[in-house]
Amino acid sequence: MSSNALLLSRPKLTAFLACPRRFQLRSLKHLPWPYVPDNERSAETMARGQQFHLLMERHFLGLDIPLTSIGDTAVSNWYQSFKNSSLSFPNGRFLPEHRLTVPIDNHLLLGRFDLLVVGEEDDEPFAQIYDWKTGKAREDGSLRQDWQTRLYLALLAEGGGALWPNDYSENGRSLQPENITMTYWYATDPDAPRIIQYSQQTHVQNWAEIQAIVAQIDNHLAQDNWPLVDDWNQCRQCGYQVYCGRQEVGLERHSPVDEPIEDDQDWLLEPNLP
Ligand code: SF4
Repeated sequence: MSSNALLLSRPKLTAFLACPRRFQLRSLKHLPWPYVPDNERSAETMARGQQFHLLMERHFLGLDIPLTSIGDTAVSNWYQSFKNSSLSFPNGRFLPEHRLTVPIDNHLLLGRFDLLVVGEEDDEPFAQIYDWKTGKAREDGSLRQDWQTRLYLALLAEGGGALWPNDYSENGRSLQPENITMTYWYATDPDAPRIIQYSQQTHVQNWAEIQAIVAQIDNHLAQDNWPLVDDWNQCRQCGYQVYCGRQEVGLERHSPVDEPIEDDQDWLLEPNLP
């Protein structure tokens, strides 16, 4: 990778799409997301989500988790909902909190899956992504359009073959988009997992769009030009208002004002937005 190479995660792509200046402040200048005093409820919600994700990681590592060891009642209830739910899993290798990076132009795309299950069925490799959600449940249509879905599915279609030994792909067997799914499990709707099936046709469009976004980022990098967004509604969800002189627009209630900037924690602390 060149010295200008970036590690691009979902939060960084969505920051760029929302506002080039937000991307610059967050990803290039690494400015901390300012603390906002009236956002304590959101911080508490995020802490619970973080605790639940850690719990699920331990669960899929096969560690014993007595309910009495979970201090928070809400987290304990979510975990019981998961254990009582009808969510099913295929036979395969279980990879909790698995990271995958894929080169794109001079940069790297990064995804971290809550759980990845990979295996073979009818001599064809498959991959299933699972994502745990503790916020308000969303419908399939909206989840299909979400950049988390699009990026994670694309990452596996482009780079998932690395999860199998070389001799496997040398025998002509590779991971096809049709054999990749992403399942969102909502603690608030535990018996209705949202299962999204990928396809070659969707992948071609999806990957082309991701490449186009990365090319736009490269253009901004080349010119070192990071304009403020025209749509001030974006600023209502942004903690960087003070850097842009847009404080008068006000902050949206429950906005992601405590969004972290560290890539390694994006997966863990990203707020569950409706
Ligand atoms: S306050 Fe508005 S213009 Fe400034 S970084 Fe945030 S979204 Fe962009």
